[in-house]
Amino acid sequence: MRIYKVGGAVRDRLLGKPVTDIDWVVVGATTEEMLAKGFRPVGADFPVFLHPKSGEEYALARTERKSGRGYGGFTFHASPEVTLEEDLIRRDLTINAMAEDDQQNLTDPYHGQRDLEARLLRHVSPAFAEDPLRVLRVARFAARYATLGFTVAPETLALMHQLSESGELEALTPERSWKEISRALMEDQPQVFVEVLRACGALKVLMPEVDALFGVPQPPAHHPEIDTGAHTLSVLQQAALHKQPLTVRWACLLHDLGKGLTPEDEWPRHIAHEFKGLKLIKAVNERFKVPKDCQELALLVAEYHTHGHRALELKPSTLLELLQSFDIYRRPQRFEEFIAACEMDARGRKGLEERSYPQADYLRGAATAARSVAVQPLLEKGFKGPELGEEIKRERLKALKAYKEATSV
Ligand code: ATP
Ligand code: MG
Repeated sequence: MRIYKVGGAVRDRLLGKPVTDIDWVVVGATTEEMLAKGFRPVGADFPVFLHPKSGEEYALARTERKSGRGYGGFTFHASPEVTLEEDLIRRDLTINAMAEDDQQNLTDPYHGQRDLEARLLRHVSPAFAEDPLRVLRVARFAARYATLGFTVAPETLALMHQLSESGELEALTPERSWKEISRALMEDQPQVFVEVLRACGALKVLMPEVDALFGVPQPPAHHPEIDTGAHTLSVLQQAALHKQPLTVRWACLLHDLGKGLTPEDEWPRHIAHEFKGLKLIKAVNERFKVPKDCQELALLVAEYHTHGHRALELKPSTLLELLQSFDIYRRPQRFEEFIAACEMDARGRKGLEERSYPQADYLRGAATAARSVAVQPLLEKGFKGPELGEEIKRERLKALKAYKEATSV
């Protein structure tokens, strides 16, 4: 049997990038031989094994054939006769279809190295169009390597287009899609992920609510970039620049969905877009079975981001309502993430990226003031039940009034 490093490990070594997980392919072996060497099998219909010591994945060289819709619609054929070249041709991109032996001799039948140099994400063979997940994968790699100058080859984009129109994207499971989406959002240039999906027509299939934002104008005085789609991409870019977590990035992507619902005769104003967007966000959240923390933050940011921007003008009572809505007493982290998302929204405007955002510290200060109200003295005064709740609220309001006075000069 012969063993090769494949995929990301080879690609990233050639790019001079750190290699984290290594995938191996084994040519000329049978399942029985692998088991005899102590490899542990994983997956029912996949000839993939875990190394007894390193735990890394070793896959028997295989060919595959389309047999149904979606990601799972494949039949595999693994046998000792399958060659390395046959295994590599079923892979998505040429830069992912290189193999390397233990002497670092490269097997590169589909010219991955040439495409690495040309900074091109190019499919290996027409079989690319058999798996719709690849549309998301390519967009994700584009987001990751955009900084190095990579773009999607036009002929690959054409295939992605074809896949998007075929109805195959709808066959992806929420779990597979979310895995790609969430990883893509955490890349260096997540906005490129959205741009590539849009360029191939996949965005309007996967997230029509986001696609609808392109071509929708906003008031130029607040939004020099005007277009709501362009703004959304900039907000996402700012979130990545500021190393925000996934929750914040997801909220950034969805915060303005309501603007896609504004009747054209109301443009460029978007009255109550904060609230109108909520049902769209719920739909997107459910479509991809998004984790609870991401779901929640996206809804809260959409509903309250304009409150965030107007923080310094808010009446103490409105400020208190905002803090209560976020349950800042039990969920301090979530409120921090809200503040971050508001700041990214403000910075995601053309020419205003570097403008300071005093609202952030003001909101933090307000939260501290509200939290400083101690419950114990009120208990000692004999307050109980709903009365206690009312009294705490009154005290917090007092604290916020004092805070507002102390900070406004
Ligand atoms: P990463 O750095 O994200 O791990 P990777 O290229 O190693 O990137 P993996 O998902 O670990 O990506 O997959 C390993 C290899 O398997 C890929 O490089 C590619 O050759 C192949 N591959 C994975 N998923 C697909 C797919 N859906 N279609 C075709 N080839 C795939
Ligand atoms: Mg990998």
